[in-house]
Amino acid sequence: MTRAAPPIGSGLLEWLAAGPVICAEGYLFEIERRGYLTAGAYVPEAVLEHPDAVIQLHREFLHAGSDVMLAFTYYAHREKLRLIGKEDQLEQMNRTAVRLARAVAEEGNALVAGNVSNSNIFVEGDPESARTVRAMFDEQVGWAVDEGVDFFVAETIGYVGEALLALEAIKETGLPAVINLAIFRDPHTREGLTPAEACKRLEDAGADVVGLNCVRGPATMLPLLGQIHEAVSCHVSALPVAYRTTEDEPTFLSLSDPGCACLPEGRAFPTGLDNLACNRYEIAEFTKEAQALGVNYLGVCCGAAPHHIRSMAEALGREPPASRHSPDMSRHAYLGTVPEIPAANKEFAKSL
Ligand SMILES: [Zn+2]
Repeated sequence: MTRAAPPIGSGLLEWLAAGPVICAEGYLFEIERRGYLTAGAYVPEAVLEHPDAVIQLHREFLHAGSDVMLAFTYYAHREKLRLIGKEDQLEQMNRTAVRLARAVAEEGNALVAGNVSNSNIFVEGDPESARTVRAMFDEQVGWAVDEGVDFFVAETIGYVGEALLALEAIKETGLPAVINLAIFRDPHTREGLTPAEACKRLEDAGADVVGLNCVRGPATMLPLLGQIHEAVSCHVSALPVAYRTTEDEPTFLSLSDPGCACLPEGRAFPTGLDNLACNRYEIAEFTKEAQALGVNYLGVCCGAAPHHIRSMAEALGREPPASRHSPDMSRHAYLGTVPEIPAANKEFAKSL
C-alpha cells in the first residue's frame, strides 16, 4: 500500500495532519546527468525542449513514493532566462512546467507544488532589489496559480529577507507556503540569523511549513533541524542534498574527492560529486532521524534519484509501487539463501 492519503480534494495541510509528506526534488541535477540541460546556468530548458524527459522523472518519483510533484520551475526566473538570452520563453517555460507536473500528479494521488527559488540578485537592505525580486516572484507565482497548483515551495534562499518576499507573493494567492532556506558553510542565514531565528520569523509572517533544503547533506543538515523544530510551532521541512557532507566540508559546494585526480579545477561540485553520493540506506537513516526530531515535510534535493525516494518512503513505513522491486538478496546468484541457489555457488560466495 501507499500512504493513507486524505480524501481527494484535501490540500497540503490536511496531508501533513495525516502524517509526513514526501517531496522529491533534485530535478536540475538529475535532468543534467541525463543530458537535457546545462550545468552552470542550470536553467530548466528541458521543460520546453525535452518535456518527455521531465515527465519521465516526475513519473519515476511518483512511482518511488513522492507525494508531491514539484513543478520544474527552479531557476525558470527572469534573471536566469535573461542570462541565457531566452527571456521571451519565461512565461511559456513556467506554464508548461506546471502542466507537466499536474499531468503526472493526476496519474497518482499526488499534490502539485509551484516553485520559486533564490533570485541571485537580492541585495540586503536595498529597496530597489527587493522590488525587482518581488516582481520576479509575483510573475512566477501568478502563472503557476493560473495553471493550477495546490501549494507553493520557495526554496534554496540564503537571505530570510528574500524568503519573506517570496512568502508575501505566495500569501497573496491564499495557498499554503513551504519556505526552505539554504544554509551555507556559516550555519546562519546570509544576514547572520540562526536557522531557528529565521524560521521563526517566517512562521510569524504566515509560512505554513519552514525549514531547510539543498546545500547541506544529511549529516550537516540534521544538527540544525532540532533547533528549528523547538523554535516554531508550524510544520518543519528538511530536504538535504544526497551527498556525504562533513563537519569540515559541510556543503556540497565545498566537498572534495581525494580519490579523483581529474576533477575540473580540482572541484567536485557540481559535476564530479558521484563518488560522494549518499546511498539509499543513508537516506533511510536520515529520514528516521529527521522524523524523530519532528520534521514531517521530507525530501531529497540535488543528487536525489528515485531509489533514494523509495528508501525514504519505506523508512516511513510505506510501500510505494516501486517497492515491488525493492532488494531481495535471497535470490542472488552467490549471496542468495533460498534452496534453489546451488550449494557450490553459496560456497563460492567466500571467494567473491
Ligand atoms: Zn538542491
